[in-house]
Amino acid sequence: MHENKTLRIAIIGGGFSGAMVAVHLLKTITSNIVINLIERKSEIGLGVAYGTEFDCHLLNVAARKISAFSDEPGHFMRWLRHQEITLPNTNTFAPRQLYGRYIQGLLKESENFSQSTAHLKRFTNEAIDIKTTPENVTVYLDSGEKLEVDKVVLALGNFPPANPKVKNPTFYSSQRYINSTWSQKWLNLLSADDPVFLIGSGLTALDVVISLYQRKHKGKIYIVSRRGLLPQSHQLGITYQSFLNTSQTPQTISSLVRLVRQEVKTIKELGYDWRAVIDALRSQTQIIWQTLPLKEKRRFLRHVRPYWDIHRHRVAPEIGQVIAELIDSEQVVVYAGRIQAFYEHADGVDVEIRKRGSENSEILRSAVVINCTGFQSDYRKLQHPLIKNLLASGLIQPHALNLGLNVAKNGALVDASSKVSQQIYTIGSARIGELWETIAVPELREQSRLLAQELLR
Ligand SMILES: Cc1cc2nc3c(=O)[nH]c(=O)nc-3n(C[C@H](O)[C@H](O)[C@H](O)COP(=O)(O)OP(=O)(O)OC[C@H]3O[C@@H](n4cnc5c(N)ncnc54)[C@H](O)[C@@H]3O)c2cc1C
Repeated sequence: MHENKTLRIAIIGGGFSGAMVAVHLLKTITSNIVINLIERKSEIGLGVAYGTEFDCHLLNVAARKISAFSDEPGHFMRWLRHQEITLPNTNTFAPRQLYGRYIQGLLKESENFSQSTAHLKRFTNEAIDIKTTPENVTVYLDSGEKLEVDKVVLALGNFPPANPKVKNPTFYSSQRYINSTWSQKWLNLLSADDPVFLIGSGLTALDVVISLYQRKHKGKIYIVSRRGLLPQSHQLGITYQSFLNTSQTPQTISSLVRLVRQEVKTIKELGYDWRAVIDALRSQTQIIWQTLPLKEKRRFLRHVRPYWDIHRHRVAPEIGQVIAELIDSEQVVVYAGRIQAFYEHADGVDVEIRKRGSENSEILRSAVVINCTGFQSDYRKLQHPLIKNLLASGLIQPHALNLGLNVAKNGALVDASSKVSQQIYTIGSARIGELWETIAVPELREQSRLLAQELLR
């Protein structure tokens, strides 16, 4: 590129990933650059996780571990001190809203301290299409505006959950059906004694239960998921050495599971907790995943994923404690089973479920049904205008596992003819099929740093 030419970048999505790519670009660049940061929500830097309206929603990682920079582990703690915010200790699980303020602060700070040749332009708008020529990329916004740039980053994050298949899906257009849990609107629809029905028993379900608990909700909370498994809690423990040699990891899921079980047995005999074994796998998960044959990855998704998820994605101990108490008091009732149908009436909705292993259905009466089944990762099924257009024009290709997109090692998207793009890149959850471990801060902070380097190359 000619020395004086201005590099024009569009980042679509202003959650953690998009904001951090912008931060790294602003911190690094010494020549002319225009960064167009496009976010459809009114605030940049929060995204889904840190834009929650609930102050009771906590990070699921201790404060000392959640710096936004991989090479400055204590950065979040330092930022807190600088803001004169005191946490009880470095193992505290801070509110997610606070973390959102941190990311917003980083963006502002890097903008203030960037070279005069760097410009960050913010757009509160939805990107709905992208067209490319060998020289240019055009990003089309919902407002009708068009942005001509050299490179684009899709930092679109996580998409709303899919609606479970039921006999009568018309219920999904009812006001009693809630598909987005991060705004307080749904909570205001409820009276304190109303029963509430949650589909799914993962982290989102626990967020909903905690929101109800904070509101002093008294009604029953039914949670139904296929296996009825709940995320485990964090516990302070030891750091365990890695026990897998990544150049010789087992090539089948069953042997991997055996190995992990064996290691858990060993650590228990030494008097320690299983969590250290799962945590020891973290830095190796991407390599293990990438070396597994496709059919073994499918086997993992079919049989092991629910168990992996509850052990890997854990909650703050205080959240786990509240959930355990609510289960003991029978306010929260967890079922393993499937939803068959919804029957709406004037007083609420009757949900027909079939418990795992049973031939018979039963009815649970509820005021609302909240979908907590987790994010939709099958891009072929998304109702997202930009993704639909990119699929139609062949600029992106779904991953073979139908989880995220086909992405090259440097974050570049692979098109429908399997050509690696030189213009369109992605980060985070779109890479789930390729990397598996790619949606949390430790991976995103590193991806954002590397992607900024790649864009400036
Ligand atoms: C509820 C929840 C809690 C979490 N808690 C933790 C935690 O404690 N610790 C941790 O490490 N990780 C956590 N995560 C993982 C989380 O995914 C990451 O930490 C991070 O927030 C993801 O950021 P992102 O920018 O990739 O995606 P998102 O935060 O989803 O941001 C994507 C942004 O793109 C915007 N967007 C999408 N399409 C368009 C478009 N066409 N045009 C314009 N804008 C668009 C969206 O509005 C959104 O703001 C959590 C995730 C969730 C959902």
